[in-house]
Amino acid sequence: MARNINAKCKQCRREGTKLFLKGERCMSPKCAMVKRNFPPGVHGGKGYPRSTSYGLQLREKQKTKKIYRLLEAQFYNYFVKASKSRANTEEVLFQLLEMRFDNIIYRAGFAKSRDLARQLIGHKHFLVNNKRVNIPSYRIKVGDTISVKEKSLMLKAFSNIKEQVKKVEGLSWLSITPDKLEIKVVDKPKLADLKEFNPKLIVEFYSK
Ligand code: SF4
Repeated sequence: MARNINAKCKQCRREGTKLFLKGERCMSPKCAMVKRNFPPGVHGGKGYPRSTSYGLQLREKQKTKKIYRLLEAQFYNYFVKASKSRANTEEVLFQLLEMRFDNIIYRAGFAKSRDLARQLIGHKHFLVNNKRVNIPSYRIKVGDTISVKEKSLMLKAFSNIKEQVKKVEGLSWLSITPDKLEIKVVDKPKLADLKEFNPKLIVEFYSK
């Protein structure tokens, strides 16, 4: 599976915002956006350049792609799918991204980053509706139930996870039971839940 292997902290510095790609480190003073809040490269010290409207759209698209750990073709495919829908393209794009299996595992606190979520899914630690699914991009549907395989609960990766999951809040579309380590998808995410990116700029970028 092709993936973005560029240095993660440099990707945040390029976008000028925290993308939360490294789990706990992102919350600590060691975060590169705390220590070196300027673009990478020899001219980075000059700070972030002023952007044209095209530049803003491009950066929003690049940032969102990096947040969800997608390559250009994968991300563009989501846009094409969203634009073919009769519903609001911006909302459908957001929903397609959020309903990815790896994203839900991350959002629910079962993994500290989307990369780790992908790894855990690839290693077959999760069940969807009691069936093993090891595809990070698998599209979860409303009504699906995600759980951790019983054997996997003994692993170190899941040892302190209940406490982590209990801290998760603000996800009205997911019903999470920390004690059972179970996620039930009760609704689709709504645009009102969106804080990390502006889908309008992305739709404008691809619609040119
Ligand atoms: Fe980005 Fe900071 Fe996390 Fe590095 S540590 S990936 S700069 S948020």
